[in-house]
Amino acid sequence: MKIEKIHKCPYCGYMYQVVLGQNAYSNMFSAPGGNVAIHSFIFVCPHIACGKTEVTVEAGSPPVSNAGRGAERQRTGGGLGNLFFSARLLPIEACGKGEFKTAEVPESVFHDYDQACRLLKASPCASATYARRCLQGMVRKKFKLKPGKFQNEIKTLASMNGTIRQEIIDALESVRKIGKFRAMPEDDVKVLVDVNYDEARQTIEVIEALLFDWFLAPAEREKRAEALKAIIESKKG
Ligand SMILES: [Zn+2]
Repeated sequence: MKIEKIHKCPYCGYMYQVVLGQNAYSNMFSAPGGNVAIHSFIFVCPHIACGKTEVTVEAGSPPVSNAGRGAERQRTGGGLGNLFFSARLLPIEACGKGEFKTAEVPESVFHDYDQACRLLKASPCASATYARRCLQGMVRKKFKLKPGKFQNEIKTLASMNGTIRQEIIDALESVRKIGKFRAMPEDDVKVLVDVNYDEARQTIEVIEALLFDWFLAPAEREKRAEALKAIIESKKG
């Protein structure tokens, strides 16, 4: 991993300038004569409301040359060869992205999205069920629909001409089907529809795209319009 000049905090989305020794720390070590080197990175978000720590570790063969010693080596990874391990230890990869944990996204929606992410590896089925509930919550909050069957809610959306694109209706419909409980006719036991990792992963991607489109982008537009209004007002005065 190479440390870029500008780093984005994975918790809060804040972009900041990296200053080694101040908000970014990096170290590499290897056993003398050994064939493995470890390179670790720690970032501490300088945003006053966040301040959380991000940790990444890489392992590979030791750098072949002495080129780029000291700070330069820390920054670039110093030519760690044949990387065989790379993982972000903090924040845990499998949780919802912090940029969606904002006032614009309803808490219950974020909770279900976060659960879907956390369950993804352990149980794609359970993940897809949370994802479906998350999406249903998003549809209700965004379009202020009367709660009913998800299938009918999607039909209502589809009938609102021009409000929502056909690709999105199709995506909603596929998530609904993937995360659905299937009733077994013989004994009336409800079981989850089988879902594989890729299907569950795609479902989460649909949610992330719509969280951005429906909740974050409109708020951003609103802010920009307000700023524009303030400029015009100040010109008048
Ligand atoms: Zn942060």
